[in-house]
Amino acid sequence: MTSASAGKLPAVFVSHGAPTLLLEGGPTVDFLQRLGDDLGRPKAVVCVSAHWESDAAIVSAAERPETVHDFYGFPPALYEMRYPAPGAPDLAERVRALLVDAGISCAVDPARGLDHGAWVPMKLMYPAADVPVLQLSLQSHRGPAHQRAVGRALAPLSREGVLVLGSGSAIHNLRELAWGRSEPASWARGFADWLDRAVEAGAEDDLLHYRERAPSGVRAHPTDEHFLPLFAALGAGGGKGRRLHGAFSHGNLGMHAYAWA
Ligand code: ZN
Repeated sequence: MTSASAGKLPAVFVSHGAPTLLLEGGPTVDFLQRLGDDLGRPKAVVCVSAHWESDAAIVSAAERPETVHDFYGFPPALYEMRYPAPGAPDLAERVRALLVDAGISCAVDPARGLDHGAWVPMKLMYPAADVPVLQLSLQSHRGPAHQRAVGRALAPLSREGVLVLGSGSAIHNLRELAWGRSEPASWARGFADWLDRAVEAGAEDDLLHYRERAPSGVRAHPTDEHFLPLFAALGAGGGKGRRLHGAFSHGNLGMHAYAWA
């Protein structure tokens, strides 16, 4: 994998799983820890998380973003966790300018902290919390093509050692979870296999229309906010991607990760 010192970074999509991922351990935790080592230390991370949706794009610009515990009813240990990485106000302004240049309106939020879609994977990838990180909100009502356009606008950042990180879930249907079970149902495996093939073939049109074209596309994503961060990474990297990780947790929660160089 390309390291930051070599110049261009891949754009990456990861699945962040349940908030308890950090307490559970397992193959996806191991993968995310390795991923940080493999990528090297980027100058900064722009994270598009499934857990920040807004009508128009907003970029976060806090100098010291708070760790936001945006989940309910989980073990106290999770609420005690902090991820004190610095923000990146200058980069936030650059992100805003890149989006505006691409015809996408974008506001700046000087106060917003990091939601768990951002800090959970970052805590595994960069545990020292020394890589500046900001978030860019998701416009789920505008669908996959819009998120790809947002990603395309960010493509210059990958060439400057900034990691564009989409954080969602390869499969995300909370009604289909089976706590404690690791084997997925056949429909979930079928969707994941289709996704692997479409990413690796660079079949962007199929991916954009996954709800009609993928087997069990709507079952995999009854709402698509957890899938849309994938299109930001796809847009930033472009072309054929590759699977970095494939796993399921709690039965049918897809934990797959992909990269586009
Ligand atoms: Zn989530």
